[in-house]
Amino acid sequence: MSARTLFDKVWTAHEVVLETADTPAVLYIDLHLIHEVTSPQAFSVLKSLDLRVRRPDRTLATMDHSTPTVTEQVFGKIPIKVDAAAKQVRQLESNAAEFGVELFDMRDARRGIVHVISPELGCTQPGMTIVCGDSHTSTHGAFGALAFGIGTTEVGHVFATQCLLQRKPKTFAVNVEGELQPGVTAKDLILHIIGRIGVSGGTGHVLEYRGSTIRALSMDERMTICNMSIEAGARAGMIAPDETTFEYLKGKPRAPHGAEWDAAVARWRALCTDPDATFDASVDIDASTLEPMITYGTNPGMVMPLGGTIPRVSDNAVYDKALGYMGFHGGEAMLGKPVDVVFIGSCTNGRLEDLQAAASILKGRKVAAGVKLLIVPGSQQVKRDAESLGLAQIFKDAGADWRESGCSMCLGMNGDTVGTGQYSVSTSNRNFEGRQGVGARTLLVSPMTAAATAVQGKIADPRELL
Ligand code: SF4
Repeated sequence: MSARTLFDKVWTAHEVVLETADTPAVLYIDLHLIHEVTSPQAFSVLKSLDLRVRRPDRTLATMDHSTPTVTEQVFGKIPIKVDAAAKQVRQLESNAAEFGVELFDMRDARRGIVHVISPELGCTQPGMTIVCGDSHTSTHGAFGALAFGIGTTEVGHVFATQCLLQRKPKTFAVNVEGELQPGVTAKDLILHIIGRIGVSGGTGHVLEYRGSTIRALSMDERMTICNMSIEAGARAGMIAPDETTFEYLKGKPRAPHGAEWDAAVARWRALCTDPDATFDASVDIDASTLEPMITYGTNPGMVMPLGGTIPRVSDNAVYDKALGYMGFHGGEAMLGKPVDVVFIGSCTNGRLEDLQAAASILKGRKVAAGVKLLIVPGSQQVKRDAESLGLAQIFKDAGADWRESGCSMCLGMNGDTVGTGQYSVSTSNRNFEGRQGVGARTLLVSPMTAAATAVQGKIADPRELL
């Protein structure tokens, strides 16, 4: 057999019917993750056709996108404030019960953002195909899974058949070498990569992140990298599993145990790109020269080193519109610009290591007057861990608002929003117009840069506070 990439190996193992010139492949799906926002219509289609969920045992539901993060609303002392959210929560409860799908409901200790809970429970495993009605399903590629977001119609297809019609993407090697400097994080690296290849640079491809820098990353950091693959236009992002992956998964509640664990690790060790395999595209990145990064526009590709100046671009309507929305001008420095809101959380940066990084800056310091700092753990497990390690107390002592888990201010549909015209420094993954609220202006950064900015009340370099 000829040399194959990691992606080729996972794809081939799941191809039920081969792709032809006229028809896409039929791909088997190992794990279908669902949430309250993109599942209701798909369940309605099942009901209208009198169908059942084909594999409820391979389907897992949580609530994250529209759920409130205010404790009293989550635990029922007061009703959910946003009516649409309350309806979606009730619908998922009833659909999960009717179709026999396991659900982590609002009060479940295992609940959280779909892309945080599946890895932390060990549901996400190397070599799997994983889909969810959410673009950032690419997160799970950090384990060597082929994971991608699907539309509501496709959610219905997977419910009914446990399969998906797919055209085979091309492969794209992102080779990263060199050591990240102190204060420069996985978030800065992926923002740099997106800036380098562009928001459509990965279109039609699956990215494989490779090289010594990637191998040195923790699983939380690898998830941050793969999470934002979609922001480079890619179908998915993958990292070959290794000892770091196995160490993370070992002992997780839903990972294999005993003899099954040994057999699984033996299988997983073969999930790597063969030395002679070739990619359809590639890019080489030197991580040792990177600085903390920040976006200045309205897509994640409009990104620059924190200490730089906004590029001057002429005769570009997209650029002009973006800077007009943001209230910025070419040639301006970003450092020192005042901000209104700082958000630390999301499936990009709402894991324990992200909160530890933020706490390393916030410890013993106070949030600047006039700035709102919202810190939202990615899951209830992350919340418990952060509380037992004393991180939550550091946040509260600094003046931050510490919440229950959820997508929160990543998108403005759960009651956590940024006001019109306000500047929000955010650890989430999208800075689109209106993403965090009508007229909100979002600047994407790492948790360390977010924390430093909260303390200074203006865009700040975390390296000065280390
Ligand atoms: S945190 Fe944001 S990107 Fe992640 S699943 Fe929630 S809404 Fe989607």
